Formats: sequence, structure tokens, C-alpha cells
Amino acid sequence: MSGVSGEQSDTRQESNWSRNYSYRGQVVRPDSLDAVRQLISNSAKVGFLGSRHSFNAIADSDVLVDMRSLPQSIEVDLDRGTATVSGGTTYGTLALELDRHGMALANFASLPHITVAGAIATGTHGSGTGNGGLGTSVSSLEIITAEGNSVHVKRGSPDFNGCVVGLGALGAVVSVGIDIEPAYTVRQFVVQDVPWSTLIVELRAVMGSAYSVSLFTRWADSVTQAWVKQRVAGDSAPLHPALSAGRSAERDLHPVGDLDTANCTPQLGLEGPSFDRLPHFRIGFTPSAGAELQSEFLLDWSAATEAVEAMRAIGDRIRPALLISELRAVAADQLWMSPSYARDSLAIHFTWRPEPELVRSALTVIESVLLPLGARPHWGKVFLAGNEQLRDQYPKLDDFSALAERLDPRHAFRSGWLEQHVFGSSQR
Ligand SMILES: Cc1cc2nc3c(=O)[nH]c(=O)nc-3n(C[C@H](O)[C@H](O)[C@H](O)COP(=O)(O)OP(=O)(O)OC[C@H]3O[C@@H](n4cnc5c(N)ncnc54)[C@H](O)[C@@H]3O)c2cc1C
Repeated sequence: MSGVSGEQSDTRQESNWSRNYSYRGQVVRPDSLDAVRQLISNSAKVGFLGSRHSFNAIADSDVLVDMRSLPQSIEVDLDRGTATVSGGTTYGTLALELDRHGMALANFASLPHITVAGAIATGTHGSGTGNGGLGTSVSSLEIITAEGNSVHVKRGSPDFNGCVVGLGALGAVVSVGIDIEPAYTVRQFVVQDVPWSTLIVELRAVMGSAYSVSLFTRWADSVTQAWVKQRVAGDSAPLHPALSAGRSAERDLHPVGDLDTANCTPQLGLEGPSFDRLPHFRIGFTPSAGAELQSEFLLDWSAATEAVEAMRAIGDRIRPALLISELRAVAADQLWMSPSYARDSLAIHFTWRPEPELVRSALTVIESVLLPLGARPHWGKVFLAGNEQLRDQYPKLDDFSALAERLDPRHAFRSGWLEQHVFGSSQR
């Protein structure tokens, strides 16, 4: 793009974090909101990039606005319990700034290096039966829509629940209000080799036995590691009895197994700030690219046992591609396109070897057993299902389509990927 002030463009082909996807669009780096408005107004097809941690083409378009190039801001309002941040701010940067004010976030994804706007756009979540996805902490948004105008929505306003998990389809999210709370400390314990035979009957109770629980497995006979994250004040229950069938780890562990733990958050029950315990990986260690792919499917808890049994039955078939699976809990929310919309969910995650063909074969098998159980894929990870298979899982899809039509009547933000997986094909 030329002729737009305050903007730099780059004609090299650029890729996502895991380097499994090369953006076909031209990346532009505006340095002001006015430049973003002009870029949007002057582009037939335009999309937005956060920290590029999505594993599919969700962010791609002809013109790609790198939202991290805008001036970043964090305003902390202690009286209202809110931080208002620029969309390209990462959770790590935000958490450290909040800590300076004695404040904290309710939860984190597994790593804090992702941007706020990019994370909420795809329904990113951490774990905890009482914790909604990261979007549930959002209280307001400012979005620049297809005509270059700003739209402000806040919790309670009619469009709000449609805007948070916006899939990049509504416009540039330039400002996000987020609920904050007084800083708190967390300790995490890891228990190794808990037999599935003990866990399966107590799965929901184990997942709800601490503020945030993650179970790692390769779908053989055991959960290889259970990560239990307790809030030090108010979460002092002993470990769930079902975990006593395993053994307590005696050193810090990496979820994948025998990997370097330098970038893992401290374990062994050592108390520390929430931002250094709730993510699995530490703020200070930012991997620029990763040798892995990821997929994830969220299921209503009523289908959880059947889903886990089904996964164990196909374990042999997916294991060649699998580094590790992780089970997390996500509380129901009201965000229209959230994978945990209106249902308390079990999230079944897969970290794959970076081998796309093996992953595709594994996903064919996984989707054949999980989609009939009502699974909703994580929007930012690798999956195969298209709009026809997914639309029945999203009761508010028609409302979301109408909202997108209103904010983007010329379909500037509507990519082929969005048509294939979300909206269905359009005539334009
Ligand atoms: C190592 C790793 C660990 C992960 N861990 C987790 C996890 O624990 N839990 C989980 O749920 N997910 C996890 N993810 C997935 C990740 O959280 C999502 O893919 C998330 O969307 C990444 O945010 P991003 O800033 O990189 O967004 P991008 O990948 O850059 O973009 C994602 C979407 O957001 C849109 N977008 C980005 N910024 C803006 C903006 N300012 N305005 C409008 N739209 C915007 C893009 O257009 C695109 O549609 C992980 C991914 C990786 C690589």
C-alpha cells in the first residue's frame, strides 16, 4: 500500500508463529489510528494481525494490518477495576504493568505472549471450571469498522456479546477494557502418571478441585501430568483424592516430557504471582517460533466422558502425530461465537509434531468421533470442519452474521477462510 501516511509496508512473505502458514497478503505497519482508518477505507480486502500465534489462515487477507505497530497503551483505573489497553498489547506486558499497580488478571492462556485483541478474537482460554475464556473479562471494545468509523460497545449493550469473539470479521479492535482484580498469589503442583481408570469417573471433580487444573495425556493408560494451580488465599483444599493414585513430581517438569523446563512456570508448590503460575510458560522467555502445531475441541461436559473414552480408543491412530494432549475446563459464557458459548466445557487440546500431513490424518479421525458429540473447534488452531458441520453448534451464528453485515457491509474483512469455516459462502 502506498500513499497512506504514517505506515510502512513489507513485501516479503511473512508467516505465523509456527511457520506452518505463510500469509498471502501484504503486511503493513501503521503507526496511528488515522493510518488504520485510511488503510481500511482504501482496501477492498483487509485483515488484522496480532502476535500471529494462530495456526490457520484466520488472520489472512489481501492487506494485513500489523496491530502491534500502533502505539501501545495501558490505562489502569483502580476505582473502576478496569484496565483499558490497545488491542496489540500482549497479556504479558499487561500483567507486569498491572502488578506495578498491585492488580492482576483473572486468568491466562498457556503463554502470555499473545495479544489481547488476537486472543479474544478466537475465544482463547485458560483452565478452571469457574473461569470463562479470556473474553469474559472484557468490559468494552473500540472497533474501527469497514467505513473507517469507530464503534464503541460495552458489556450490557446489545452488540457486545457478538463483538468480543469477533474472529477478525468485524473490524480493527483498537482498544479493549478488561476487568482487573487485586494481585494474588498462586502455587502449582504437578502429579505424574495418574491412571485413567481412577480419573475418568472423577474427571469433572478433579478439574474443579483447584482454581485452574490441566491434565496432560498421550491417551494411553494414564494422565502423564496433572498441573494443579491453587490460589493461595481461598483455595487451600488438599489435592483431589483421585490424584493420589499418581506420584508428586519432585522437580519442575515440561508438559511434553523430557524437555528443558527453563521456560516453564515454577512448580513444586512454590508460591508466586498469578502471572508467573497460571500460564504454563514464563513471560521472560518469548519463543519467536515454535516447532509444533495445535488443535483443540470444546465439548459440553455432558459429552465429556464419552469424548475421553472415544479419544482413548483412537489413541494409537493419532499418536504418531502427537506430542501431547491437554484437557482443560472452561466455564460457559454468553459470547456468541465463543467455543464455550452457553455451555460449561471440557477442552481437549492437541500439541502436534510440525508435520501437516500426519496432523491432517489425525484430525480426520478425531473429528469423526468428536464432531458428532457436539465438539466446537478452537478458531485459532488447526481443524478441518467447515461451516456446514459447525453452524448447528453456534445458535447465535445468524445474529453474528447480521452484526458482521452491519459493521462490514462491503465484506472488506470477509476472507475465504471465514466463509469456509464460519459464514458459509457469500455471493459477493
Ligand atoms: C504456543 C501457543 C500456545 C497457545 N496457547 C493457547 C491457550 O493456552 N489457550 C488458547 O485458547 N489458545 C492458545 N493458543 C492459541 C492462541 O491463543 C490464538 O491463536 C490467539 O488468537 C493468538 O492471538 P494472536 O495475538 O497471536 O492473534 P493472531 O493469530 O495474530 O490473530 C488471530 C485472530 O485475531 C484477529 N486479530 C488480531 N488482532 C486483532 C485486532 N487488533 N483487531 C481485530 N482483529 C484482530 C486476527 O485477524 C485473527 O482473526 C496458543 C497458540 C500458541 C502458538
